[in-house]
Amino acid sequence: MVITGGLLVNVLTREIYPATVGICEDTIAYVTGAEDAAVAGAQVVDARGCWLTPGLIDAHMHIESTHATPQHFADAALPRGVTCVAQDPHEMANVLGLEGVHAMRRAAVGLPLRVLTLASTCVPSVPGMETSGAEFGAAEIDALLDEADVIGLAEVMDFWGVIRQKPRVTEIVKVGRARGALMTGHIRQLGGRELNTYLAAGIDSDHEQLDAAGILARSRLGMTVEICCCQARDTIPAAVEAWRMGGPLDAVVFVTDDIPPQELISAGHLDQGVRRAIQWGMPAVEAVRAATLLPARRLRQYDLGLIAPGRKADILLIDDLNAFHVAATMVNGRWAARGGQMLEPSTSAYAMPESALHSVHVPRLSAEDFAVVGHGSRARARVLAQRGRELKERLLPVRAGQVVWQDQPDLALVSVWHRHGRTQDHASVLLEGCGLQRGALATTYAHDAHNLVVVGRDPGDMAAAANALREAGGGYAAVCAGQVLALAALPVAGILADRPVAEIAVEFDQFCAAAGDLGVSEQPLKLLTSLPLPVVPSFRPTDRGLVDVQRQAFIPAFEFLDEDTTNQEAR
Ligand code: FE
Ligand code: FE
Ligand code: FE
Repeated sequence: MVITGGLLVNVLTREIYPATVGICEDTIAYVTGAEDAAVAGAQVVDARGCWLTPGLIDAHMHIESTHATPQHFADAALPRGVTCVAQDPHEMANVLGLEGVHAMRRAAVGLPLRVLTLASTCVPSVPGMETSGAEFGAAEIDALLDEADVIGLAEVMDFWGVIRQKPRVTEIVKVGRARGALMTGHIRQLGGRELNTYLAAGIDSDHEQLDAAGILARSRLGMTVEICCCQARDTIPAAVEAWRMGGPLDAVVFVTDDIPPQELISAGHLDQGVRRAIQWGMPAVEAVRAATLLPARRLRQYDLGLIAPGRKADILLIDDLNAFHVAATMVNGRWAARGGQMLEPSTSAYAMPESALHSVHVPRLSAEDFAVVGHGSRARARVLAQRGRELKERLLPVRAGQVVWQDQPDLALVSVWHRHGRTQDHASVLLEGCGLQRGALATTYAHDAHNLVVVGRDPGDMAAAANALREAGGGYAAVCAGQVLALAALPVAGILADRPVAEIAVEFDQFCAAAGDLGVSEQPLKLLTSLPLPVVPSFRPTDRGLVDVQRQAFIPAFEFLDEDTTNQEAR
């Protein structure tokens, strides 16, 4: 095949010029000047009016964030120009362990999208603070690195464990070092000695949302800064500012990390990062380079990321370079998508394991299961405020052995239930100011242990929401007055659906609308999914209790006071 008449975006020399590209099977065979006549007998593609760029490469993402299985994710990402992703399947790993990682690898075999895998290191994110479905140590990571498509260690989020040399994560890092594996990280806002210690251990990337100075500071230390282009943590403006301050930054790669289904459909995938970088003033060739050649090098995929002889024929036709609008996507010398549509939907012969289809191991619950029981006449409740960033205290009455909180209109109860069948644990804590007026919301997708999280005003509705998810195999549910208002079923491990992303997005919108009707208008998905993650400041409810993140210790959510102590407190 010969593609002729287009303008080649050369991300190595940073030039744009007319070129003819010859492709033999899955490989680029030659690149010559535009005036060269196309080879006789070849299939000739007229690319007049288009730019040719390499396919986009996402160096860090969780396919699970789109809630689609790899097959359906591929069908949403390829029309956006994404031809290769390095996935960290840590959500599936936290539910199903190695079986979850293998499911995400095998489900990607044979798809037109190149899916590389990084071995999930944070299973769970912080040991001891929550119970996930599995635990990975050095042995699991070592075994995963034996697989040809597993190219390194995924984000090492237990950075305190690295810095303080806690045994589990230290052994994992040692395995990575011994095998010469790529080691990627996420170290939040730390700098100075801590950052240096982390880098000295050999983990040399981060995707925290940084400002321009932070991006430059990390690049100066030899770190690859993964610039998140997801709307929830858009770091593109800071990257453009850093580019202005320091000229071309070879240390920067664009990533998506987490893209929810609605955002993937409406705004795109890695293409939105390239687009926004150009809009903010980065030259197009630099923006494309940060999503092609630089991630290819970072991932050690030296046959990707450049349109040049001998490289894989992963090529995009772009019909408006500054708007970065993808007209067609080629992978391995074959057209996969054109005009925003797949030429043919992907197929996969892979069937998810039985364990994935039965992953919500909680008993049928009733209103009584959501009562906060204790003795005495009053309770001192430690109440989450600012969605867990703060903790406040409230004295609440105890009647008939139950804490009475429902007459306080700004409170809701959060209840986290272990759902992986390894313990019987569940824990409840009150939450102030989330907006919920009535009913209940529930999900089985809650970072990173993905236990069952129920937030409610009414114990009966909380039970109904939990039971709806139990029957659906997981997902999101909104319930009021015993009626299920919205249900987005995620029956694969309680976090994915084997359906097109557009269909999943519609159900997510319905859930968000129902949550809005119940009073939670602002980011209902984020409220539920990030509430229990015990690496996020400052106080997090997990299945094991209320975690003080800074101290990495539990604190009681309720203390029951008898009459005497109450009187003393009053005095
Ligand atoms: Fe991260
Ligand atoms: Fe991540
Ligand atoms: Fe996660």
